[in-house]
Amino acid sequence: MKNYDYIIVGAGASGLMMAYRMSKDSFFETKKILIIDKEKKSINDRTWCFWEKNNGEWDDVLAKTWDKIQFKSDIHSLEESILPYQYKMIRSKKIYDKIWNQLDQNPQITFIASNVLEIQQAESSAIVITDAGSFSSTVVLNSILFSNKYKLQTKYPVLQQHFVGFFIKTTEDSFNDDLATFMDFKIPQKGNTRFMYILPFSKNEALFEYTLFSEKLLPISEYEAEIETYLKENNITNFTITEKEQGSIPMTCYHFWKNNSNNIIHIGTAGGWSKPSTGFTFKNTTKKTSQLIDHLKENKPLPSFYKINKFWFYDLLLLDILHEKNHLGSSLFGHLFKRTSVEKILKFLDEETSFTEDLSIMLKMPPANFIRAIFKRIF
Ligand SMILES: Cc1cc2nc3c(=O)[nH]c(=O)nc-3n(C[C@H](O)[C@H](O)[C@H](O)COP(=O)(O)OP(=O)(O)OC[C@H]3O[C@@H](n4cnc5c(N)ncnc54)[C@H](O)[C@@H]3O)c2cc1C
Repeated sequence: MKNYDYIIVGAGASGLMMAYRMSKDSFFETKKILIIDKEKKSINDRTWCFWEKNNGEWDDVLAKTWDKIQFKSDIHSLEESILPYQYKMIRSKKIYDKIWNQLDQNPQITFIASNVLEIQQAESSAIVITDAGSFSSTVVLNSILFSNKYKLQTKYPVLQQHFVGFFIKTTEDSFNDDLATFMDFKIPQKGNTRFMYILPFSKNEALFEYTLFSEKLLPISEYEAEIETYLKENNITNFTITEKEQGSIPMTCYHFWKNNSNNIIHIGTAGGWSKPSTGFTFKNTTKKTSQLIDHLKENKPLPSFYKINKFWFYDLLLLDILHEKNHLGSSLFGHLFKRTSVEKILKFLDEETSFTEDLSIMLKMPPANFIRAIFKRIF
């Protein structure tokens, strides 16, 4: 069995970002690194958005940025500048290509295209079993969600951020491409948390994503019908669908990192890097991969990488409420955007607010459901 210093399982956002950081750090110069994925991706299978202040690490691959965002609900609607933040969009092909260009120049890095079947913790190493054979390492960084243990447990509710998106091109100029719509809740909620997410990237091109925060996925035809209705209601009739996108991101406070062991660490969504209350993962992945690089260089035990913080508990309360009363999303987000500046909300979602700032945000929310959720958790 061939042995490597590091094996990265899954070459998606988190696996590639880890490999990219390793390839740029002299500490890993002499290390043998294996990356395994069933395919070497070079397509637009994801549209990644995140907010950031000023210039950022991925600015050379951005497809579009917005300084203003829109939010709509029956409780409150707004159009607001988010400066000093910008909302940034990357189409995945550009980032895959950028990273692979860098990795392909590094002779220490090997890529194998193969289906990974299993990862086993052995006595003092981990073994990755694939269709192309087995490989061992003392550090396996895994981004594949092999098990649905997180769905089977009942301690932490599991919702999904699930969506289908249409990239459309209109015959005439139809969009204000200075304004991204974070959430438009002014659509039938049908007992769930449902909203339209809109990214206009030119005057006649935009992505419309029909999104839910709920437990069960819908038939594809239902998301598609809702987008078509929304377009019609907004008088967007002369258009072609140029691409489609779909996804389902787990929203849960389940301790994904409990599955880590001495030689295996789970990263990306499989490691709990998706923000439970929103599904946003990309920005967190840029932060976590940097932290994990330091952790590896200091040769710290893999299971000690994760630490729970106060934001985990806040997310848990929101998910407890939405799990029990899924229809409340529109009203809860409406109150949040009504009484707190968008800049503060973004800082809070980035988990960078102080406890005093957290309190000032939470005290402006309708208290009854949160107090109930706290009591239920404690008792
Ligand atoms: C369509 C879509 C849009 C998204 N948009 C945003 C966004 O705007 N902002 C944001 O913050 N987050 C977004 N997310 C969430 C998150 O950022 C992405 O899901 C991100 O790709 C997660 O990275 P990852 O490394 O955990 O998983 P992935 O990127 O999915 O990587 C996992 C890799 O494992 C490989 N793999 C899986 N199973 C096997 C197997 N058995 N054998 C070999 N290889 C295997 C896959 O081919 C894949 O390359 C989006 C997700 C989706 C699906």
